[in-house]
Amino acid sequence: MGERQGVGSIGFRYAPPPMFSWIGRLLRRHSRMTRELNRAVAPFENLTKVILFSCNMCGQCVLHEAGLTCPMNCPKQNRDGPCGGVRMNGHCEVVPEMMCVWVKAERRSRLLPWRGDILRIQAPLDWRRRGSSAIVNMFADPFGDDREVP
Ligand code: SF4
Repeated sequence: MGERQGVGSIGFRYAPPPMFSWIGRLLRRHSRMTRELNRAVAPFENLTKVILFSCNMCGQCVLHEAGLTCPMNCPKQNRDGPCGGVRMNGHCEVVPEMMCVWVKAERRSRLLPWRGDILRIQAPLDWRRRGSSAIVNMFADPFGDDREVP
């Protein structure tokens, strides 16, 4: 379970527990191995998440913070909550027949033990990581949780 964070705290995604920090150090030290590992893991990870969560393979997963709802299914790809156009019935302004991703995320997050994590402000998406393994990136990317939101 992630640490509860209040409004205004900055997070990129769920960080691995400190006891696994050695994995990050290892991956960062061996960039070629990390690339190969990413190449090997990404297809399986993405296939699983496509089936379970309609994943769009952004490579920087925020399912944890978004109530296990993929925010990349939002037509505007908002990763920090809904836009101002949510309809009164909770549906999307761009695709009226679709429930707003963030309305779903908020409802689902209420059922999760880490529901407070939905309040984290997400750093901008790094599009270079699209299609890569979010799990490997989570361990290997040192910038994630410290990156500042502009
Ligand atoms: S946030 Fe990114 S990695 Fe996670 S399910 Fe959505 S597209 Fe996939």
